[in-house]
Amino acid sequence: MSSTPSSDTQPYAGRIAVLGYGSQGRAHALNLRDSGLDVVVGLRPGGPTWKKAEADGFAVVEPAHAVKGADLVAVLTPDMVQPALYKDAIEPNIKPGAALLFAHGFNIHFGQIKPREDIDVILVAPKGPGALVRTEYERGRGVPSIWAVHQDVSGEAEAKTKAYADGIGGGRAMLIKTDFKEETETDLFGEQAVLCGGASELVIKGFETLVEAGYQPEIAYYEVMHELKLIVDLFYEGGITRMLEFISETAQYGDYVSGPRIVDADTKARMKAVLTDIQDGTFARNWTAEYKAGLPNYKKFKQADLDHPIEKVGAKLRARMPWLQTSNDKPAAATPLKKVG
Ligand code: NAD
Ligand code: MG
Repeated sequence: MSSTPSSDTQPYAGRIAVLGYGSQGRAHALNLRDSGLDVVVGLRPGGPTWKKAEADGFAVVEPAHAVKGADLVAVLTPDMVQPALYKDAIEPNIKPGAALLFAHGFNIHFGQIKPREDIDVILVAPKGPGALVRTEYERGRGVPSIWAVHQDVSGEAEAKTKAYADGIGGGRAMLIKTDFKEETETDLFGEQAVLCGGASELVIKGFETLVEAGYQPEIAYYEVMHELKLIVDLFYEGGITRMLEFISETAQYGDYVSGPRIVDADTKARMKAVLTDIQDGTFARNWTAEYKAGLPNYKKFKQADLDHPIEKVGAKLRARMPWLQTSNDKPAAATPLKKVG
């Protein structure tokens, strides 16, 4: 896959409908407008973000209305509501030759949306949350973004994709070409095996090990949950190299001899099994069925996480650390469909 600086792309002149005004939607809409593009925001009347978009000075209309006349439709609602949104508002209204843009390939790749054959289907996914996409843009910089073309009927799908990526600031940083399959499968794998699933289970099992051995839950919380942030920040800034620079020799030696005992070849084999479930569609089928059934298992699993002793002791300790605050990119009680992107 190649990296392409995008300064050679022409500014995109058409009208852009941004559907959804959450984490990504708000950042994209504001950045596109500040890049001189014509943006209309499409939302459900009475939805939670309608007033916010209006307060930001956008023309806000119902999705179907926004789609009519748009040359590019950016679908930035939660992934699970996109198939119905496509059927109801987009499919009957999108202009032939217009572009349908996603920030995550799930619905196209797993066939939950079968796009009309007379439109372009493209993807731009910034590698960061919406708040960062906005603040970096305001600083005159951008967040590296990945892009893909799934369907090109206009012959201009790639130019439109890069113009959009430039418009949100991604082109100022780096644009990496991908395809819907790679974006979707790697995104799901990362959040399941390492980020959300893997990291939370690692923390919980470490906490249980210490508490079951008779150590105080408060001490265990600090050691396996709270301090994880220091390590993740070092990873983020400079990778494993930077972590190794900043931790003690004792911590390094422990890392080298004990890390591979915890996450070993069997763990990697199970990671491969998780990846296989993603690749062959098993995960997507199960998740779609779970969503359609009203999320019975999802709710049960979530409650078990919320009821875990680490959450009880954590709430008590965090209340005494006033410098901690919830990320302002997502409210604490965010949609159940929130994702790491
Ligand atoms: P979000 O939950 O923050 O916001 C969703 C928005 O859609 C809200 O404005 C909500 O009111 C609106 N909405 C919900 N249902 C709707 C409907 N039926 N019709 C119209 N509007 C509706 O979502 P997000 O996290 O910004 O995710 C949007 C897309 O971006 C998803 O495809 C996601 O996978 C992708 N993505 C997200 C991130 C991230 O960091 N959050 C990163 C990369 C890609
Ligand atoms: Mg978990």
